[in-house]
Amino acid sequence: MNRTIVGAFWLVVYLIVILSPLFIMMIRPAPAERSFWVEFSVGLGFVGLVQTAVQFALIARYKTITAPYGIDLILKYHRQIATIAIALLIAHPVILVIHNPALLSLLNPVGGSMASRAGNWALYTFILLALLSHFRQRIRLDYEVWRVTHAGLAILAILLSHVHIRLSAYYTATPWKHGVLIGISVVMIASLGYLRLIKPAFMRRRPYRVVNVAADRGDTWRLTVEARGHDGMRFKPGQFAWLKLGPSPYSVEEHPFSFSSSAQDPERLEFGIKELGDFTGAIGSLPAGTTAYLDGPHGAFSPDLEPAAGYVFYAGGVGITPFISMLRTLADRGDKRPILLFYGDKSWEETAFTDTLAGLVERLDLTIVYVLENPPEAWDDEEGFIDADVLERRLPDEGIERLHLICGPAPMLAAVEAALQERAVPLRLIRFERFDLV
Ligand SMILES: Cc1cc2nc3c(=O)[nH]c(=O)nc-3n(C[C@H](O)[C@H](O)[C@H](O)COP(=O)(O)OP(=O)(O)OC[C@H]3O[C@@H](n4cnc5c(N)ncnc54)[C@H](O)[C@@H]3O)c2cc1C
Repeated sequence: MNRTIVGAFWLVVYLIVILSPLFIMMIRPAPAERSFWVEFSVGLGFVGLVQTAVQFALIARYKTITAPYGIDLILKYHRQIATIAIALLIAHPVILVIHNPALLSLLNPVGGSMASRAGNWALYTFILLALLSHFRQRIRLDYEVWRVTHAGLAILAILLSHVHIRLSAYYTATPWKHGVLIGISVVMIASLGYLRLIKPAFMRRRPYRVVNVAADRGDTWRLTVEARGHDGMRFKPGQFAWLKLGPSPYSVEEHPFSFSSSAQDPERLEFGIKELGDFTGAIGSLPAGTTAYLDGPHGAFSPDLEPAAGYVFYAGGVGITPFISMLRTLADRGDKRPILLFYGDKSWEETAFTDTLAGLVERLDLTIVYVLENPPEAWDDEEGFIDADVLERRLPDEGIERLHLICGPAPMLAAVEAALQERAVPLRLIRFERFDLV
């Protein structure tokens, strides 16, 4: 089905679910009327709660939901909307207190009724969850520890919210109404079970085996895995998968990597992995034969999803990996469309996949512009960063109407986007991939 229609469908479902508490509040039997501000604050609380519960479905990697938007957009939305949901939950008691200052004790986590205490604890747990996510990198909280804590705190906060609602027993004095609210939370939290239990059970049936780990420049490793006893993973060039290494598909440790191999060979998959932390730093010492599991393919960053007369690719550092897959795939398909690749890195010694690219120039209508921060002596390509000046010199006017795909560090994405705007490249022709989803 058309991606726009599927996307619109899920948007409508989403709106119905998050607004459902308001519809339920209006259905008879309705409790005795209260002032507008009290009802408004309760409404915000209900919508905020359902919105936080829906977050579980957003991050569960249901392909049917993520496909129309791309998982990076969904995860970005998750971060932003979760903050808004928590703001709604904070607004709930604050409006009550502003409306009636005598209710100030509502904000005391150890005083007041059991109902208000449960509400406070839920709220403070949500706030802690948001703060830990926001400051995770600054306080150097290990990614895996954060991920488990994040899910645990979210479940605890939702549970406490339901205790608060039950004990407050106003709208939820009608059992079916509270039943519906609990049902929404249970269904949403069950998505976590799908992600952590059901998906790995399927992955167990489709294992891979590490067949090669080769060093490239710039602390990058080329990791090749082969399907064991199945037909591999069909993906679109530019997509990525979450990789787990070791005997268990249930392990908490998994990391996203773009495929760098050709999509024409789904049984033998390659990833270009740059050393950054614990997981990526251990790739170089991985013994051949190690079992691997893949959750994928994911992502909407692919030339296959758009019709185009040609391409302009912009890669920064290890952001080259999805383009290697795209170029290898287009070459294997005998594609003749023109491709211009801007590839920026610190120095020539740190630039990975140069040998692969040299081979691809022979097979495609491919022009490569290397842009090095610290070029070697007698360098005859570009120096500095991929920016408006470089594009002015090297992006021909006929390139403007091609599809522009960009992957690299955040400052590079911003610089290229600004430069493309200067060259009046239409927004509909620009696509990004970010390696910093979380
Ligand atoms: C869509 C996508 C495609 C990517 N493709 C590539 C690629 O082709 N080659 C490559 O070298 N890198 C790629 N990355 C980045 C790669 O996932 C991280 O470098 C890697 O997970 C770091 O793990 P670490 O334990 O070695 O480092 P850590 O020090 O643990 O992590 C460094 C940072 O990486 C991010 N990160 C860590 N674990 C995860 C995780 N499980 N999920 C999401 N982000 C995480 C966090 O922001 C963390 O702060 C990609 C990332 C994304 C989101």
